[in-house]
Order: sequence, then C-alpha cells, then structure tokens
Amino acid sequence: MAAGRVRRAPTRSCVACRTPRAKQELLRIVRTPTGEIRPDATGRLPGRGAYVCQGGGCLSLALTRGQLARALETTIPAEVRAALLTVPQTATHQGGERGEE
Ligand SMILES: [Zn+2]
Repeated sequence: MAAGRVRRAPTRSCVACRTPRAKQELLRIVRTPTGEIRPDATGRLPGRGAYVCQGGGCLSLALTRGQLARALETTIPAEVRAALLTVPQTATHQGGERGEE
C-alpha cells in the first residue's frame, strides 16, 4: 500500500468498454438479494452491482454481449433486458472521449 497517497473518488470500470470512471459517471445495475435486476440510480441498493457508462451504448452492449450477466453472475431474462434498455439515460451525448481527465 502506498502511504500518503491522495485519496481519490473510487472508480469502477464499465463492464462493456472497461473504462474506469468515477462512480457518479456510471450507471449501476444491481442484482438484489431477491434476484431482481434493476438500475440503481442511488448506488445504494444492496446486492451485486455492475457498472456501465451512462448514455445507453455500453448498457446495450453489455446486455447483448453477456457482459452484464457475467458481472452479475446471473442470467438476464429478455423482459429484464428490454426494461433496462428503456431506462432513461441522463447523459445527453453518446460515446466519444472528451480529452483527458
Ligand atoms: Zn462503457
């Protein structure tokens, strides 16, 4: 452990594109203890979570490629997939890297 390192905002990697981002920039999908799969806008629902970039592209990729199912260690029924893809996305632009941060 590097002592004296500045504590930074925790980052998570998008399961689709593997880009590490601050948690606030990602959409958390959670598998609740009851087996429900749902988007977690608060980031506080109990259960196993997986993160995708906001904006929709990575979420649909993660669903179609099975990365989300793998990350959540479950299978995602078609109706849940469809429901996830209709989640309102907060980001207004899609994809594209915006310089360095
Ligand atoms: Zn992504």
